[in-house]
Parts: sequence; C-alpha cells; structure tokens
Amino acid sequence: MNAIEMNSVRGQIRFNESMSKHTSWRVGGPAEQYFVPADLADLQNYLVSLPVDTPLTWVGLGSNMLVRDGGIRGAVIAPLGGLKKLEMLDDDLVYAQVGLSNSKVARFCQKQKLSGADYLAGIPGTIGGALTMNAGAFGYETWDLVEQVTMINRHGELIERKPDEFEVNYRHVRLAADEWFVAARLRLHARSEAEDNKIKQLLQKRNDSQPIGQPSCGSVFKNPPGKHSAKLIESAGLKGHCIGGACISEKHANFIISNADTRASDIEALIAFIQKTIKQQFDVSLETEVRIVGESA
Ligand SMILES: Cc1cc2nc3c(=O)[nH]c(=O)nc-3n(C[C@H](O)[C@H](O)[C@H](O)COP(=O)(O)OP(=O)(O)OC[C@H]3O[C@@H](n4cnc5c(N)ncnc54)[C@H](O)[C@@H]3O)c2cc1C
Repeated sequence: MNAIEMNSVRGQIRFNESMSKHTSWRVGGPAEQYFVPADLADLQNYLVSLPVDTPLTWVGLGSNMLVRDGGIRGAVIAPLGGLKKLEMLDDDLVYAQVGLSNSKVARFCQKQKLSGADYLAGIPGTIGGALTMNAGAFGYETWDLVEQVTMINRHGELIERKPDEFEVNYRHVRLAADEWFVAARLRLHARSEAEDNKIKQLLQKRNDSQPIGQPSCGSVFKNPPGKHSAKLIESAGLKGHCIGGACISEKHANFIISNADTRASDIEALIAFIQKTIKQQFDVSLETEVRIVGESA
C-alpha cells in the first residue's frame, strides 16, 4: 500500500500489533498489519489499496482463535466496532454487520420483541465469528436465522449470497476462497411473553456449567458424533492437567484456561496431548473447534 492510498483510509492501521490483545486466551504474537475499518466503504477502500498478494486473516473477538507465538503475516482485518450497522429491514428481518457483538444483536432483537437470537447473548464474539463458526448453543445455530449474507472479496467488491450457496455444518461453514462476511440479514419471529426472561435464564445455565471469567476460547474440541468431548476428557482423568501455563478447566473439561504467563505453544501442546490421550484410551479422534492460525515462534 503506498502512502497516498493509506492516507485515504479512515480506519486505524497498526503495525506489529500484538494479537494477545485481541484473543480471549490473551496469547499470540504480532500481526504485521492490523486494520480496524471505520465502516464498510473504508474496508472496501483498504482492500482495493492492499497489494493483492498480502495474506489476509479476519478476527472478530478472537474468542475461538489460537494465534501462534510467531504472529500473523500480512494483514489482519478486525471489523469489531467498525462494521456495526444494525437495523430493522422488515417486521422480523434484521440487518446486522459483522463487527457487532452477538450480545448486542441478541438484546436488540429482544427490544424489538423478536425471538430466535436469545442464545447469541451468551456466546462471546461478533456476528462475523458466529456466521463463520455457525456458532450455537442450547439447540440453536446461527445459520437457522440467516436469510442472506453480504460477502466482500479481496478487491473490495460486495457479493450477496443465500444460505444454499454455502456448505453449513456443525461449527463449520465452507466459504468461497478469498471471500469474507460483512453483513447478514437474519429472519426472526414474534416473541411471546413467556420468553421475557429467556436471555437471563440461558446466561444462568452457562454460568452454572462453564468457567466464565477465566481466559478460554470456550469448547476447544467439537463433539464427535454421539459423544461429548468434555465427558471423554474427564473420563480420561485429565481435568486440571497442565502444560506450561495452559490447564484443562476443573469446571468444564473441554475448556483450556490460560494465565498471564501462558504461551500459545503451551495451549497447542496441551491440545495435542489431549488428542493423543483420547485416541489411545477410547480410539476417538478429537477435532478442534478452535481455529489455529499464524507462525510458530
Ligand atoms: C467462554 C466462552 C464460551 C463459548 N461458548 C460458545 C458456545 O456456546 N457456542 C459456540 O458456538 N461457541 C462458543 N464459544 C466460541 C466462540 O465464542 C464462537 O465460536 C464465536 O462465534 C467466535 O466469534 P469471534 O467473533 O470471537 O470469532 P473469532 O474467534 O475472532 O474468529 C473465529 C473464526 O472466524 C473467522 N472470522 C471472523 N470474522 C470473520 C468474517 N467476518 N468473515 C470471515 N471469517 C471470519 C476467523 O478468521 C476465525 O477463523 C465460546 C467461547 C468462549 C470464550
């Protein structure tokens, strides 16, 4: 990107930005370039200005990402706080850009007397992360709500897509190469009075079973078909097991907790150790839900 083009970008560009500030485990090396767009037009402008061979990584709230200690080459796009348009398009159709937090969208829907998005209130993250991961809880999943999404490609062009253009699975959505989410239209339904306290109840359920308040990325592993990863890890006697500064939670065995001294390599080593132990003891292969990115130190 040359200086003139960079001047026309209104958002924030930071160089050598530590990703430990942008991930819920609070680990990870620096991003060569970290960009927070001011709005969608600014993001388009930035992408047009960026050399076409710059590797791109997107981050929402970093609540499902392990960034290795060597950091991320190229540019990290961080729409949190920038792409934040949220509005009603119809009685029950909500337009939400990807830099909005899930909880903001859940509470907006509640205020509009709409039902269907309450489960999002307890999932830390952005709408972009929820779309990418097909985030879900308590039997609800993000793509149950999606009517249409707006994608952006690396030339800054916008493309409207329908759900049937994606392969949507449990905690995984296949995207076309070099396309990312910038907004979604979510179809909800009328809220009944019985649902008045639903967000509160769902948050309570979460607090009872998860180590909320300790740095984690939620469930590290997907549940294998017909099995629970947490139960397998607990049955293997691994609760509380640590490698370096990474420990398996005593409260929920599918959570790995970090502390101020933890390195991404500790977490990655613990993930590999859990996978090896569960394979040996139960002949089950655990697949990570968390996305591991970046370079080893
Ligand atoms: C305490 C705790 C509890 C959790 N509970 C749940 C739960 O109940 N259910 C659940 O599903 N998850 C849960 N999670 C995991 C996590 O919150 C979700 O996966 C969430 O959707 C991730 O959103 P994010 O914005 O943080 O995404 P990030 O972690 O920032 O990114 C996740 C992936 O999405 C990609 N990405 C982000 N934005 C975009 C975009 N706009 N376009 C394309 N790709 C993009 C990233 O590159 C990365 O590969 C929990 C996490 C924590 C810490």
